[in-house]
Amino acid sequence: MGILVPLAERVWVIPGGVNIGVLANDDRQIVLVDTGLNESSAKKALKVVREELGGDVVAVLTTHAHADHFGGNATVVKRTGAVVHAPVFDEAYLRYPLLQPALLFGGADPLDTLRGNFLLADPSPVDVLVEVGLHEVAGITVEAVPLYGHSPGQLGYVAGEVFFCADVVLPESVLDKYRIPYLFSLTAHLKALDRARAIPHRVGVSGHGSVLEHGQLNDLIDRNATLAHRVADAILELTVEPQSAETILEGILRGFGAPVNDAPSFYLLQPTVFAFLSHLHRQGEMTHEVRDGRSLWVRA
Ligand SMILES: [Zn+2]
Repeated sequence: MGILVPLAERVWVIPGGVNIGVLANDDRQIVLVDTGLNESSAKKALKVVREELGGDVVAVLTTHAHADHFGGNATVVKRTGAVVHAPVFDEAYLRYPLLQPALLFGGADPLDTLRGNFLLADPSPVDVLVEVGLHEVAGITVEAVPLYGHSPGQLGYVAGEVFFCADVVLPESVLDKYRIPYLFSLTAHLKALDRARAIPHRVGVSGHGSVLEHGQLNDLIDRNATLAHRVADAILELTVEPQSAETILEGILRGFGAPVNDAPSFYLLQPTVFAFLSHLHRQGEMTHEVRDGRSLWVRA
């Protein structure tokens, strides 16, 4: 991190573990699209825009409520007084970040091992709610595009020719490493992939990985969609006989070789399996019953 890559007029990206978008208005006021994981990513972003653009950050535009994307908000706000714009629904998690690990932990008081800064960010204020459609931030108009699924309210932002598409797609390197990506809703995610494919743009910036030329984003959309369908097919193969979600999870972790050896990686994928089960159930491909104190899933 630490460099500013120009993408279009008054649009840049600071590449890093999480890519941070940078927009500027006529008065050199700066808007950051996401702030990275923590205080350190936020400080680096502030330093880069001050040194290279000579401007101050006046607003943060958050794509979604995952700690690695908004964990720097608190630091940016403290140091600049920036106004935070966040998607409806996800904004609750910015203000009450404990909701994320609690959500992963079945809605209960999460294990202490689920409270690291990858899952539990510092709270961020939220000043402006972003709805789908044209949205103005510091006098700059962006289009907020619904990309729900990876999180309940994830938004992409189109700034001129640049499409900040958040985590609707994950790059090859991340898919190779984790094998099965976290999902809140598969139903919404499949729609989001189609929607992303239809967004006209010259350059795509996903939350992770390198900057994407137009065809490259479409290739990644195909890759991510194919993977989702492969996981769904694997779940159907595992449920010829009634199975508990835990058995299904174990089956797909083994089948896909997912490196799950600690609580955070396990508890990210447990709700992901439920995202597949509710989708398949909705599609009529899975039935669900509770019998003898067990919640059981069987393919239709
Ligand atoms: Zn995310």
